[in-house]
Amino acid sequence: MGNADAEVPMIRLSYNDVHNSIQQCAAKIQKEFEPTLFIAIGGGGFIPARILRTFLKTTTEGKKRNIPIQAVGLTLYESMGGIAEVVGKEVVRTQWLDFSTLGKTFKHGGLLGRRILIVDEVDDTRTTLIYLIRELQKDIDEQLQLIENTEDREKLRETTKLGIFVVHNKLKEKAGELPSGVQYFAAQETPDVWLAYPWECDGQIEEHDAMRSQNPKP
Ligand code: 5GP
Repeated sequence: MGNADAEVPMIRLSYNDVHNSIQQCAAKIQKEFEPTLFIAIGGGGFIPARILRTFLKTTTEGKKRNIPIQAVGLTLYESMGGIAEVVGKEVVRTQWLDFSTLGKTFKHGGLLGRRILIVDEVDDTRTTLIYLIRELQKDIDEQLQLIENTEDREKLRETTKLGIFVVHNKLKEKAGELPSGVQYFAAQETPDVWLAYPWECDGQIEEHDAMRSQNPKP
């Protein structure tokens, strides 16, 4: 992860940049994944998930419906691990899925049989995404154990899908690989520089937008 220091090369993004990138990728996501649930990683994934929801709908009984958005909070910390010299990255859960609404009409908790799209603003080292996929897979496996009928269980295992959507994927070495069954969509690929999103601007947003003219040229 970089930082927002003025010396570090930075790409400033306007709201319209983000909106347009998501819109351009939405048709591909619909065609190739057809999500039925979004899991937004907070805080950076919240606004992208809401924008994506504008372009993707599910159809039930002929009616277009909004795709529900669940939120998780994950924070990446530098950790010293067991050995002082080994500085690693540790992900801490600050918020998790709300199974009381997700699982309202199911006995198993509500993840099974869904096409679950994880949404975040940026895939940097990939540590956060790898952590989330692992944790979600644990929840899915626990819910599958609740299905007594083997045939039903295998059918639900088969139809439960995990996908990832990020607005930006930084082209760099990643902390690990994603499991092969996980579909991956990135609206844009970027060099390994700091991306400054409009919702993080704590000064004048007009100034932030105007300074996009100083973005490194592709
Ligand atoms: P990871 O390294 O796990 O892929 O990314 C962890 C988190 O760091 C991201 O979800 C994001 O919140 C933050 N992050 C990483 N790179 C950037 C960046 O260039 N700009 C901003 N605003 N956040 C970033």
